[in-house]
Amino acid sequence: MIVVLSRSVSSHDKEMIRIYLRDRGFSIRDQSFGEDTVIGASGKGFVDIRELGLLPGVERVAATSKPYELASRETRAEDSIVTVGSGPSLPDVKIGGSRITVIAGPCAVESKEQIMETAALVRESGAVMLRGGAYKPRTSPYAFQGLGMKGLEFMKAAGEAQGMPIVTEVVSPELALQMKDLVDMFQIGARNMQNFELLKKVGSLGKPVLLKRGPSATIEEWLLSAEYLLAAGTRDVVLCERGIRTFETYTRNTLDISAIPVVKGLSHLPVIVDPSHAVGIRDKVSSAALAAIAAGADGLTVEVHPRPDEALSDGPQSLYPEQFERLMRDIEALAPVVGKELLRTPHPASVSRIGGGADMGGAAKELPVAFCGENGAFAEQALMRAFGEETPRLQVKSFSGIFDAVLEGSAMAGIVPVENSQTGSIHENYDLFLRYGDIAIVGELKLRIVHCLIADERSSIDSITIVRSHPQGFAQCKEFLDKYPQWTLEPATTTADAVASIAREGAVKVAAIAGEAAALAHGLKVLKAGIETNPLNYTRFVIISRRIGDKTPVPPSLGSGAPNKASLVFSYDDKPGALFSCLKILSDRGINLSKLESRPIQGKPWEYLFYVDVGIPDTAGEFDRALEELKAKTRDFHYLGVYRASL
Ligand code: PEP
Ligand code: MN
Repeated sequence: MIVVLSRSVSSHDKEMIRIYLRDRGFSIRDQSFGEDTVIGASGKGFVDIRELGLLPGVERVAATSKPYELASRETRAEDSIVTVGSGPSLPDVKIGGSRITVIAGPCAVESKEQIMETAALVRESGAVMLRGGAYKPRTSPYAFQGLGMKGLEFMKAAGEAQGMPIVTEVVSPELALQMKDLVDMFQIGARNMQNFELLKKVGSLGKPVLLKRGPSATIEEWLLSAEYLLAAGTRDVVLCERGIRTFETYTRNTLDISAIPVVKGLSHLPVIVDPSHAVGIRDKVSSAALAAIAAGADGLTVEVHPRPDEALSDGPQSLYPEQFERLMRDIEALAPVVGKELLRTPHPASVSRIGGGADMGGAAKELPVAFCGENGAFAEQALMRAFGEETPRLQVKSFSGIFDAVLEGSAMAGIVPVENSQTGSIHENYDLFLRYGDIAIVGELKLRIVHCLIADERSSIDSITIVRSHPQGFAQCKEFLDKYPQWTLEPATTTADAVASIAREGAVKVAAIAGEAAALAHGLKVLKAGIETNPLNYTRFVIISRRIGDKTPVPPSLGSGAPNKASLVFSYDDKPGALFSCLKILSDRGINLSKLESRPIQGKPWEYLFYVDVGIPDTAGEFDRALEELKAKTRDFHYLGVYRASL
């Protein structure tokens, strides 16, 4: 049992709680749990939980039915998010929540050149943390045992050069102390999962820990090992499924895919998967990795080697750089399907963006990001996906309010929906870009839209007579709504506004169509989930920032990687072949056109503006020249921005 104390608890009250528990037969221990101070009580004592909860200084009591308490979901309902940092000058990496975090690197650090080269290429493909063993627990005493502290120094240098925190295995309590200042996250290897003295030591050092599952450990044993780490003081534990030993010998181990949803149900800790050690066969690693993401894993740790045939350990399971690049692209495409976003972090030598990117100043980082809608709106989900759950948010009442907030400087950036995969462009927002010339697009994000029928706790489908939503919500759920012709449809400003109105009115005959997050945010219940006609339903959001001179600051969380997409708007003189000659400029230079749409020009009947999205070729000079030519050929040329495309 865990007694969470209120933050302002006096030492007298704390002592009274201790005495209360001891008198009732518990042995007690002081622990910290995330931000909270808790008293852990174990033993055969008996207590009335409600009475205990009423004692002064008690915030809440979590009575767990599991032998692991701090690791249990019963103690903490929300997902824990682990932050791995490597110093103030490098980007932090988060694991858990709505992101997919990919760690990559060689099995072992073999030389300074090898780890530098590997770090650069996995970073280029989108990995955000570097893995590599300096102390290798090998099955044979004659196999390469690792470069030790020297290897760790090489790895730290490689991590710093690429802006990636490092994770490496620690094999003894003594080494944990020696390694402490160089590692950003300790890895407890599969063979050491139940080395309890090691767990206690590593847990006491306060650094994040990646805990591999032992090859023959049950899920409960694995979670009890996590409990050792948490009880010793660290609050940042990430679990890693890496395959267990079964009767099957074709693969190195058997990846226990079902452990992912099971553990996510039992524990609040993030769960990542190591497909390399699980499968052991290079060509099968990527499939297993994608299956892990589909099953709900919060990330991966993958072995990659520039020349696997020369690797000193685990060459046969190490991916070639091209295979890893392909895997990262597949993960990026899969992420929105499972409601997540592939985490990117800024590279220290962040490429200067075409058109003049600039870093946000320190103060700008504290400013909120603006979105339109009520709590739980899809836009808010997209915002958290792009910027992280803790980012301060500014709610505004209209789409133009987002542009105003960014222009006035009360928000560092804004998030604006521009297009839905089923219902098409949100023209109102496209038009805003023309009104606000000082605003540019700096990023994009695709969010999978899963609609739910949401109502009051007391309502049922049969009691509903009115349904509220944004008109797009109605359009996207047409097949479902057609089954209830007796319902009256009432349009709302946004889907989350519809939910908020029901909560405000306490209406029982009214339901809303919106996302599950809106139901949670307003304390309503989901009557039916997944009512959108087509499950492949995505909304594309763009992230906007204010131009300063010819530069546009890019919020740091939008990550690294050169921009590969640009959005333009133009009109042209009404004469034969005019559009063709504009598009030919792009085609002649091999520039891919991913979207072309026309919009009537306000106040000029039968004249049109063309909205164009294009891919930026690797040779940036080509793109700049194409832009110059286009400018010369067109009227009203607007450059909306360059950014990294979301797949
Ligand atoms: C490793 O990650 O390099 C490793 C040795 O993994 P495991 O402990 O899962 O075998
Ligand atoms: Mn290995």
